[in-house]
Parts: sequence; C-alpha cells; structure tokens
Amino acid sequence: MKIGFIGLGIMGKPMVRNLMKAGHEVVVYDIIEDNIKEVEKDGAKAAASSADVARQCRLIITMLPNSGHVKTAVMGPGGVLEGAEAGSILVDMSSIAPLASKEICAACAEKGVKMIDAPVSGGEPKAIDGTMSIMVGGDKAVFDEVYDILMIMGGSAVHCGDIGAGNTTKLANQVIVAVNIAAVAEAFMLSTKAGVDPEKVFDAIKGGLAGSTVMNAKVPMILDGNFKPGFKIDLHIKDLNNAIETGHAEGAYLPLTAQVMEMMQILHEDGYGQNDHSALMRFYEKVTGTEVRK
Ligand code: NAD
Repeated sequence: MKIGFIGLGIMGKPMVRNLMKAGHEVVVYDIIEDNIKEVEKDGAKAAASSADVARQCRLIITMLPNSGHVKTAVMGPGGVLEGAEAGSILVDMSSIAPLASKEICAACAEKGVKMIDAPVSGGEPKAIDGTMSIMVGGDKAVFDEVYDILMIMGGSAVHCGDIGAGNTTKLANQVIVAVNIAAVAEAFMLSTKAGVDPEKVFDAIKGGLAGSTVMNAKVPMILDGNFKPGFKIDLHIKDLNNAIETGHAEGAYLPLTAQVMEMMQILHEDGYGQNDHSALMRFYEKVTGTEVRK
C-alpha cells in the first residue's frame, strides 16, 4: 500500500522505516530538508509539501510536535486538505490537545476526509522496535480499517473512544510519566545526600512496589549523566500544558502536574529544553549543588 507520512523527527523516521520494512511504499514530507533526505536514503519517496503527500496517498499519517503544527500541516496553505481526495484517511499520531483533534477532524469531515487521533507511548526505542503503545480516538470503523498498519508500528493499539479520546489517554500517560520521573529524581537525591550509593538503591528497590518502567528506563540514564533525548523536556512541557488546559476545561485539577511542569520550565530557562525528560534530576542538582551519578 502507498502510505503518506508527514513529520520525520525522532519518532517519525523509525516509524517510516518500519512501514517500509513491512513492504509498504512511503511518501514523506517534513519542513526540514535533511530529515527527508535521511529517510529517502532508506527508500522513502520525497514529496514537495503535505498537500503533495495527500495527492499521492489515500492514507496519510502525521507525526508532528503539537496542535499548531498539525493544524498547519493539515488545514494550512499547502496542507493535507488541499491535496486529499474525499474518502482518504488521516491518522494523526502526534500528541496534541484533544480539543485540537476535534477541530481538525471537523475540518477534515468538511472535505470528506476521515480522521482518527492515534498518539503513542514508548519513545524512540519502541518506535525503532515497532512496539509502541497506540491509543486511538475516532470512528471505530476507521480504526478497524487501519489496525494492521498501526500494528506494524505498535505492540498494541487500543480504541479508547470518540475523536480526541486517544489524546486524552495520552495526556493521562504523560502526567503519570512526568510525576513518576520527578518522584524518582527526588528520592534518588535524598538517598545520595544521605550517603547511599544510588546504584545500590536502584538494585534494592527496582523489583518492589516503587519499581516502574520509568525507573528502569530513566535511572540508568541519570546515573550515566546521559540526557540525550529520547523525549525532550520541551515536548513534555507541551504535553503538561495541554493536560492542565484540558483539566481546566473539564473540571479536573492537576496540582502535581503543575508543579512538575514548573520544574521543567526552570530547566527550559536554563537551556536544557532539548535534554531528555530524565534531566528533571538537574532541577534537584541545581537546588542542592549535588550530582547523582555512578
Ligand atoms: P521531533 O521534534 O523530533 O519531530 C517533529 C518533526 O515535525 C520535525 O522533523 C519537524 O521538522 C516536523 N514538522 C514540524 N512542523 C511541520 C510541518 N508543518 N510540516 C511538516 N513537518 C513539520 O518530535 P518527535 O520526538 O518525533 O515527536 C513527535 C510527536 O510524538 C510529538 O507530539 C511528541 O510529543 C510525540 N511523542 C514523542 C516521543 C519521543 O520519545 N520522542 C514519544 C511519544 C510521543
């Protein structure tokens, strides 16, 4: 099948490669020329714009940073809706505000284009392995139609509800991950300041109730002082802002999320926005003047 793919960043590139490995022809576009060249080398076909991708493909996937980027790529000049035929399917796999998914879906519907939101969790390693968790909102019939394609990129794909439900689920995921990393950083600073080797702490507690996928993934990075993203602080600030805005609109309160977001904001101001979110440890290192390392 011929699949269009827009957004060739940390996540988009390995997702395109997995679609090609599964035998699909992939037509790609990104505003950064070098990103297009990287996947062209691997066999993808370059398009001149998002509209050009949509002109060539009936199934179009977007993997972009935030709501505004998806609106531009879909509804803006030279966007998907300029090129797409009625009956085409747009699968937006970006993590954006659920309200934005609803707006974009309504604009698509006016042109007869079907859209689902299908954000992912798992980060770059799982994008490379094709084992991401995919959470989907929108028409169940469209979900069923693209399920096999989603499962090339994911280890699971769950239909969570109407349009926007995928992104609501993703926001819940991002709140849990952010607060969990902050708790891990806080606890490891405590034990380090109190004189216990952080590697011993990790070995002792990772199998107990405090253990988590977050702890297993992020503590080794922190102990190596390796904050190469992964998932960038700046993207996590975006998700937490979307969570707080959605919470305010829906009458839910997120005090823990707000606190961790402000910690991330300080790191952004300190120039660490492009670090992995495990760099939340740098916040504690800044206020204590102590590093947590091997
Ligand atoms: P990224 O910043 O590495 O890549 C985004 C790409 O989109 C860039 O190449 C950029 O040039 C391109 N882009 C921006 N505007 C565009 C436009 N109008 N038209 C075409 N291309 C455009 O981001 P990423 O890490 O790949 O993340 C993408 C999405 O996936 C985000 O919503 C992020 O929150 C989510 N996500 C990321 C991870 C992760 O670990 N990196 C994990 C899960 C979900």
